[in-house]
Amino acid sequence: TGAGKFFVGGNWKCNGTTESIKKLVEDLNSAQIEDDVDVVVAPPFLYISQVVGSLTDRIEVSAQNSWVGKGGAFTGEISADQLVDVGVKWVIQGHSERRHVIGESNSTVGKKSAYALSKGLGLIACVGELLEEREAGRTTDVVFEQLQAYADEISDWSKVVIAYEPVWAIGTGKVASPQQAQEVHSAIRSWLSDKISPEVSSATRIIYGGSVNGANSAELAKQEDIDGFLVGGASLKGPEFATICNAVT
Ligand code: PEP
Repeated sequence: TGAGKFFVGGNWKCNGTTESIKKLVEDLNSAQIEDDVDVVVAPPFLYISQVVGSLTDRIEVSAQNSWVGKGGAFTGEISADQLVDVGVKWVIQGHSERRHVIGESNSTVGKKSAYALSKGLGLIACVGELLEEREAGRTTDVVFEQLQAYADEISDWSKVVIAYEPVWAIGTGKVASPQQAQEVHSAIRSWLSDKISPEVSSATRIIYGGSVNGANSAELAKQEDIDGFLVGGASLKGPEFATICNAVT
C-alpha cells in the first residue's frame, strides 16, 4: 500500500434478491472494519435505495455504471444526477464486463466518467488487459490507452480511484501474483506522473481487482503500489469481504 487511505470496493454485479441483499447488509453492518480503510459497495441499480436506506454510514454506496450525460429519452439508462438524488456517492466505470460484454469503447467510458465526476460522484475507473493482450506483451500499451481515454475527459483527479483489473483474473479464480499486480500498478503510477502530474501520481489510489479473496488479500496488500481492492465474487459474502477490508492491518 502506498497512496492515501486503503480503499476496498465490493462490486455485486447483477447478483442478489431483496432477501439476500437484506442479509448481506446485516452482515456488513455488524462486521468489524478497521478505521483506516474506505469501504464502498456497488449493488445493482434496482437495490440501491434499499441499500442506502439500510446500510451503515460507515460504508458508502456506488453504482456499477451511469449514463453518459443528463437524463432524458434514453430507455434503460440511469443518470449520474439520479444516482446523486438517491444518495449514491461513487460510480464504477469501464469495468471489463461493460467493455467486453456490453461493448463500451474507451471514449464512451471517458465521457461517462467525466459526467459522473461533474455531478460530484467519486469515480472507480477500471482498466485492464485481456489474456491475449498480456501474452502478446501489450499489457501496458492497453492499460495506458485506457488511462489516456479517461485523461482526455477528466481534469480533476481528486475523486478518482483507478482499479487495475486484468480481465483474465476476473471471476476466474486466477488471481494475479503480487508481483504481476505490483508491476502494472507501478507502471500506472509512473504514467500518472508523466502524463498528469507527480502530485496526482502520489495521491491517486490504485486498487487491484481479479479473484481477490480473504486468503490472498493480505499478501497483495503488502505491495508498494497496491492501495486497495475491487472485489467481485467475495464481496457477496459479508464476513469474507470484511476480512479483505482489513487486509492491510
Ligand atoms: C470485479 O468484477 O471487479 C472482480 C474483480 O470480480 P472477482 O473478484 O469476482 O474476480
